[in-house]
Amino acid sequence: MNPFHSIKAILFDFGGTLDTDGVHWSEKFWEAYQAAGVPIKKTEYEKAFVDAGDHLVSARILPHYNFKETLATQIELQLQFLEIHFGLPSVYHNHYKEVILTYAYEEASKTLDKTKQILERLSQHLLLGVVSNFYGNMETVLDEFGILKYLQVVIDSAKVGIRKPDPAIFRLATEHLGIAPQNTLMVGDSFDRDIIPAKQCGCITVWLEGKSWKDEVGGKEADYIIHSLSELETLIYNTKLF
Ligand SMILES: [Mg+2]
Repeated sequence: MNPFHSIKAILFDFGGTLDTDGVHWSEKFWEAYQAAGVPIKKTEYEKAFVDAGDHLVSARILPHYNFKETLATQIELQLQFLEIHFGLPSVYHNHYKEVILTYAYEEASKTLDKTKQILERLSQHLLLGVVSNFYGNMETVLDEFGILKYLQVVIDSAKVGIRKPDPAIFRLATEHLGIAPQNTLMVGDSFDRDIIPAKQCGCITVWLEGKSWKDEVGGKEADYIIHSLSELETLIYNTKLF
């Protein structure tokens, strides 16, 4: 029997996967910066993105923060960094923040709407879960977009104290589901943080290869590669994965 014919559960990454369908958040924010006309170079912006990510610890984001508040916290840190290190005039701070936030939120909301429909259909046949390096408010955000009700497990790194790429975070999710890793698909956009550790844990991996700010090579190690979440159902049913 082909072992791939026995999928009982799917785990998903959230950021870059369910909310942007494969577009890395650094790229999504950069689109928003351009829409806002922020006068900085992409290399400067990338430094701000990394710095804000490093400082976006759970202490800054509270468990009740919704998606917009989460994005706003991130954008605030990025703009502060650009003002301090690259002389971005602070006089337009609030204007830039508002335009970037509106753009990023609306884009992600549209994608999450489509994602919700996919998860709704998959939930009729399979157990579903999310495994995310998030900030303690993953469930709040999933509920906000009507997705939480389709999930049997949500692992938020800030809550469990384990972060990707530690394979233990995927083991924890499969244990919660009561499904063996070899009967579990893991779908994520990060080759290093999703695919490699999920494979180490024994899951079958689906790499959502999208638009990333750095080339992630080595995709051949993923069991399957898709370029949009909309390809997932076709993959599962045509390949008779369950
Ligand atoms: Mg991701």
